[in-house]
Amino acid sequence: MKRVAYLNGKFLSYQKAVIPIGTHALQYGSGCFEGIRAYWNAEKKKLYVFRLKDHFERLGRSCKTLHMKLPLTTEALVKLTVELLAKNKHRENVYIRPFVYKTSDIVSVFNLDRLENGFGIYTVPLGSILNVKEGINAVFSSWRRVDSHTVPPGAKPTGIYLNTSLAKTEAEEKGADEAILLNLDDSIAEGSAENLFIVKSGKLITPSIDQNILEGITRNTVIELAEKELNIRTAQRKVQKDELWTCDEIILTGTGMEIAPVVKIEDRTVGSGKIGPITQKLRGLYSNIVHGKDKRYLKWLTEVNCLPSPAHNC
Ligand code: PMP
Repeated sequence: MKRVAYLNGKFLSYQKAVIPIGTHALQYGSGCFEGIRAYWNAEKKKLYVFRLKDHFERLGRSCKTLHMKLPLTTEALVKLTVELLAKNKHRENVYIRPFVYKTSDIVSVFNLDRLENGFGIYTVPLGSILNVKEGINAVFSSWRRVDSHTVPPGAKPTGIYLNTSLAKTEAEEKGADEAILLNLDDSIAEGSAENLFIVKSGKLITPSIDQNILEGITRNTVIELAEKELNIRTAQRKVQKDELWTCDEIILTGTGMEIAPVVKIEDRTVGSGKIGPITQKLRGLYSNIVHGKDKRYLKWLTEVNCLPSPAHNC
């Protein structure tokens, strides 16, 4: 099955959805994006997109920060994504990547407001990123998280991901699954593309949004589920490195990684060395919700239906 992508007002075959070599965003990293997941429910034969509207609202805020512009309203972007998913007839879990970028072909750093904006979305089948069932192994990165005085880390700018790619590369070179990035003052920021939580004596703690983090949609989901379903309030504050040695559980949360337990850091065991009870409960709740199996949270899902034509057997 050939995939279709959307680029600057048109649906095109994925292979034809290309951008020219001199594009400002390619040369200078002047873009911002979202990462969204849709989950296939085999019983209901339906695809559910998780918190689609929230992702487009965050993309809108990123654009404002970065002098970029979305071509459509949030509602129209939601409709467009559903149309694209239906055209691609996915029957598996899917990753959805909308992005806004500076299209101008200009060989210089330039006033961003004077550069043209482009917009695209593509979809790609994506299962679990890591086998997190046993828990993952992380190391502290020697690369520090980009500070908000340098580039706004909450705006998901494409260029900033060189920072996290270096951290991830270093982690894998050391034999670990994931990197934990520190701030310049040695406090904890987040993972390479995940927010971090610790569990200490039954309480959840996560770095606050002034700690150079991306305010993750999974992070917000976990905070809400912990409070409503587990009766646990989350403290949002500065988290120090040594707290990771003494806590009971460490959790990484992100659209890609979902809810992942960290059971080792720098070869030291975290908590019991096994997936902790709070992580386990959150993973169970999350998995049911994203697959459309928990009616109370259908508000977070956008359903993708088959195209009306009988030829489209999705
Ligand atoms: N931090 C960074 C740097 C990320 O790239 C991501 C993934 N988007 C996250 C945190 C988690 O955000 P979300 O839960 O919205 O996917």
